[in-house]
Amino acid sequence: MSARPPESSARPAERPRRDLPAADAFTRRYWDAAADGHLLIRRCAACARAHHYPRPFCPHCWSDDVRWERASGTATLYTWSVVHRNDLPPFGIRVPYTAAAVDLTEGPRMMTEVVDCADADLRIGMELRVAFRVQSADPPVTVPVFRPAPG
Ligand code: ZN
Repeated sequence: MSARPPESSARPAERPRRDLPAADAFTRRYWDAAADGHLLIRRCAACARAHHYPRPFCPHCWSDDVRWERASGTATLYTWSVVHRNDLPPFGIRVPYTAAAVDLTEGPRMMTEVVDCADADLRIGMELRVAFRVQSADPPVTVPVFRPAPG
């Protein structure tokens, strides 16, 4: 009877955090800017239209002459859904939260979260301003969210 090899090393099973974006060489600049408090979008030099999420080519005309641009950070609320239950860790401890689609002043529609606003105060078309939330210290990740614009 042969002994089985010991269970492989003492390293605990790593659980990927599903709430953290995976930055790659292309999106690193976006996440670094967010950490510095700036929202970046991409604008096409061929057709002048902006887009979001960031892509290496223009989704409107397929040009690859697309550059990073600092967005104004202003937006209006297009639609939202208040999430009261999410069984996917770690979202369960964050409910309720307001998942939203917002229209950036520059044009693109962006999936995000609205914070600091009671459900009853949410209105289609309401003015929003970008804010930045530190989602994780290690690895360091900051994500753009939106809150009601100061009246
Ligand atoms: Zn274009």
